[in-house]
Amino acid sequence: MDEGGPSDDYDLDPSYRGPNYDSDFEISEFEGDESDESSDSGFVVDPDLDDSDVEASSSQPKTDVHDTFLYDFCHIPERNDNIEDGEINEDGVGLDTTELDRESDDEVEPIEYGMHDPSVDWKKMKPHLGEMFANQEQLRFCLTNYAVQNGYLIRVVKSSSDRLQAKCGTDKDGKQCTFKMWASWMNRERSFQVKGFNDKHTCIRDFRRPTMLNSEWIAKHFIKLLCRRPKMKGREIQEVVKKKFLCEVSLVQCYRAKLKALEIINGKLTEHYARIWDYGEEILRSNPGSTVQVSVTTNPDGLTYFHRIYICFKAVREGWSRGCRRVVGLDGCFLEGYCKGELITAIGRDGNNQLYPIAWAVIDVENKANWLWYLQLLSSDLGIGDGGGLTIISDQHKGLVETAKDVLPRVEHRQCARHVFANYKKAYNGLDYKRLFWAASFSTIEAGFILAMEELQAININAYNYLVQREPSTWSRAFFPDRRTCESGKWGI
Ligand SMILES: [Zn+2]
Repeated sequence: MDEGGPSDDYDLDPSYRGPNYDSDFEISEFEGDESDESSDSGFVVDPDLDDSDVEASSSQPKTDVHDTFLYDFCHIPERNDNIEDGEINEDGVGLDTTELDRESDDEVEPIEYGMHDPSVDWKKMKPHLGEMFANQEQLRFCLTNYAVQNGYLIRVVKSSSDRLQAKCGTDKDGKQCTFKMWASWMNRERSFQVKGFNDKHTCIRDFRRPTMLNSEWIAKHFIKLLCRRPKMKGREIQEVVKKKFLCEVSLVQCYRAKLKALEIINGKLTEHYARIWDYGEEILRSNPGSTVQVSVTTNPDGLTYFHRIYICFKAVREGWSRGCRRVVGLDGCFLEGYCKGELITAIGRDGNNQLYPIAWAVIDVENKANWLWYLQLLSSDLGIGDGGGLTIISDQHKGLVETAKDVLPRVEHRQCARHVFANYKKAYNGLDYKRLFWAASFSTIEAGFILAMEELQAININAYNYLVQREPSTWSRAFFPDRRTCESGKWGI
């Protein structure tokens, strides 16, 4: 390929550069750095990435600003312009044309440079010559991962909004490592591109204190973990960093990282809630016949806030009607994190006793009004009318129990045996208490239930009374209608 020749793809007219373009930047920043270094730095610059002006064609010696920078900075060997007169005359005497013929015959394909893939494992991240990044932040993250993984003391020596230069540490004699990277903003491609890169290192490695490591980098690595554990302490983050990355970071860095990560998580969550209408529309477009109901509230500050959303896919609804047991489990759980709220779900059981999600909703709080709204929608979707022939299983949430009686007057309402046991266990914890409770719950005949309860009565009358008051007919299989029981005991079915 013609070295230094203009390239349509990467022609960098100054007007294409970023907002803070300074034409003297390269010379002033890099020229002096190279004077004391070996002339064979191994620094690679792809000619297509050369910043040289179109006017500085390949046939001319390089004299303009950008060329000087690239030649000085990159130590590309000067082309042999010292050919004596007569070696090449007008007739081409002395010129070996073999190479020229080959070049003219072959069609040189332009090199295609790839976009950086941010989903790559952090340990495998390494910038490459010509690689394009969405922004400088992404490039810094990639470079820091490369430095941390390999223990290189890479540091950014110059940066502005549209360019970045990085160098590495020193060798045992204090001499500058030969690693260098130079990248700048490509306005036409809207990306940050690595224009020069030498990945040969002569430095001493240090895994403990990478120079590019900062709180932003820690925050990015801890987003997933902090999503699950938002209350994670700074000291825990510090320990994980030490264990996973072998680096020593300060507590202050960890606290800052935590704040930044939570800001990213919560900010994103709020943005997602702001697009809840789009989400609902997309579900209806991609799953015609489904039920999506969103409601919002307008607060005195004039802003609209999310209230609740209900979702039931058409295919799921029909699947339940055709192939599942007439049993629905209802429960709610708290949503952790910035936005809070609760998730309430209706779960079925198919013929194989596998769990079958039917419909779910996100609500602000678990109360009678929200359960009423949810059960009315669920009843309409599943076509269960007054609840005749249907069993629902839940904990004993007061709002839910009362609402179920109103919306589904003929439904059989069972208690989740595990919920009953969890409360019973708090007062009566012991192997015998456990054995007798489950014996009473699993018994398929009333005699078995009575036997277990009598044994419990003999051990502790208070435990016996406690269970009798918890309506055994709702959690013992001995009292369930035949057609709606099965071997699965987890819900007391
Ligand atoms: Zn190095």
